[in-house]
Amino acid sequence: MPSAHVPVVIVGAGPTGLTAATLLARYGVECLVLERWEGVYPQPRAVHLDGEIRRILDRLGVGDEFDAISRPALGLRLVDRKLRVLAEFHRNPTGGRNGYPDANMFDQPELEEILRAAVKRHADVTVRGDVEVTAVVPETDGVRVDFTDRTTDAAESVRARYVLGCDGANSLVRTSIGASMQDLNFEQRWLVVDVATTVELGQWEGVHQVCDPARAATYMRIGKTRHRWEFRLGPGETADDYRDIERLHGLIRPWTGTVPIEELELVRLADYTFRAQLADRWRAGRIFLLGDAAHLTPPFIGQGMGAGLRDAANLTWKLAAVLAGDLPARVLATYEAERKPHARTMIRLAKATGVAMTDGGELGNLLRRLITPHLHRVPGFHALVTDGVTPPLRRSELVVRPRLLGGRAGSLVPNAVLDEGRRYDDVAAGRYAIVTTVQPGPAQYGEIRARGWVVVTAGPGTELRRWLRRGGARAALVRPDGTVQCAARDLTRLYTAYAP
Ligand SMILES: Cc1cc2nc3c(=O)[nH]c(=O)nc-3n(C[C@H](O)[C@H](O)[C@H](O)COP(=O)(O)OP(=O)(O)OC[C@H]3O[C@@H](n4cnc5c(N)ncnc54)[C@H](O)[C@@H]3O)c2cc1C
Repeated sequence: MPSAHVPVVIVGAGPTGLTAATLLARYGVECLVLERWEGVYPQPRAVHLDGEIRRILDRLGVGDEFDAISRPALGLRLVDRKLRVLAEFHRNPTGGRNGYPDANMFDQPELEEILRAAVKRHADVTVRGDVEVTAVVPETDGVRVDFTDRTTDAAESVRARYVLGCDGANSLVRTSIGASMQDLNFEQRWLVVDVATTVELGQWEGVHQVCDPARAATYMRIGKTRHRWEFRLGPGETADDYRDIERLHGLIRPWTGTVPIEELELVRLADYTFRAQLADRWRAGRIFLLGDAAHLTPPFIGQGMGAGLRDAANLTWKLAAVLAGDLPARVLATYEAERKPHARTMIRLAKATGVAMTDGGELGNLLRRLITPHLHRVPGFHALVTDGVTPPLRRSELVVRPRLLGGRAGSLVPNAVLDEGRRYDDVAAGRYAIVTTVQPGPAQYGEIRARGWVVVTAGPGTELRRWLRRGGARAALVRPDGTVQCAARDLTRLYTAYAP
């Protein structure tokens, strides 16, 4: 028999599950996180997150802690096999439109430790480690989650109103709802090498992508003493072929130069199969898929974990509003409608980067030399790699915009400095906001306040005003996750466009 009832059960305490739990707790929603392991998965994986994701970390209350373990990167360099620069894309290392460096390098286990500590600060969240979820079963007015305590083998159950499947690439929750991964036609095997050294390598502090079909590679410094290399493996090669330090050194020597082997500590050597996959459905009734359970991307533009955090930021405020009775349950359909196309676009950009690095043999090398300097003209690539901006969300009940001219709806509001010196995110603080170039009248103010929304005035000469005007608008309704729900030429039209 089910032993307890909670509003939300989250399966998996990876970065996606921990982010979802903390955001829900900040909205006052109680949740139970069930995780197979007692501690954080100790092996390095993700090393990069962008300025948009850094904003989510701030909402979790871990921004300063993250800054202490991360390092801004200067951008992306595409280089040939002799490390000659083919193209260079600069990222703002101090504070871009999101208020933070556009590219932040870090070590995933260190971030997960911070996220675990943060979630424990919320009394509304219970994290149970050492439990294996074995079944997720829809019932009339909720979901039953069965799990086994791995320390005692005892079988237990819990009932929830909603379940979030944040259980990674081999998701049981995905299987339980009858969803399957669609293959987006990319599969390559890569060697991932993490090295620590106190010796300065003297390399450019951005991401180096070696465009070479014979041995495509990536190098980046991720911390004061930490460095990451990734090398495409040839047919039949495995990580074991490179456990011999001399052989491994042969691969990384172009960057380490004359640094003696004894000064290089091998933190991790592993081979990974990089895939591009998207779940065919992300939801069945009260059960949702988030993170790697819903999408897998090759890591070439460092967006896999970020996509999971975007999922959590997109879904949690809606779920909290539905549980509180502030929004109708039908708006939960906007989660998949908005997030799936965005995830697909980012996976395609990652695939395109991978192909640019690896395809075409010697002819490909020649073409690369000609084409890569002009890559900044490719839509999406330019915005992402140069400006740190990801595509706007598609139309949905909570992204209201004309079919042809999109305007600002669906895009992320800049985290601009406001008149009083604070940034947008500090003022909005996870609530709905009206961003407007004109002050609302007393009646409008009353209505806005009654809804619990915030008014952010985009005064003359401010970044927010320029941003609105460039989008052909004077006012915008911005959702708690920072996405513009609708934008209009004046406040009255904004109210008319606002639906739920
Ligand atoms: C080499 C490499 C480099 C990468 N680089 C980047 C990068 O630079 N930037 C980036 O953003 N991303 C990157 N990624 C991707 C990133 O690591 C993943 O996208 C991220 O870890 C996914 O987080 P998640 O929480 O969705 O899933 P996971 O991290 O897989 O977490 C899932 C959790 O669910 C638990 N679980 C699973 N099944 C059950 C069950 N039945 N019961 C209980 N618990 C369960 C697991 O134990 C695990 O803790 C990289 C990945 C690799 C491999």
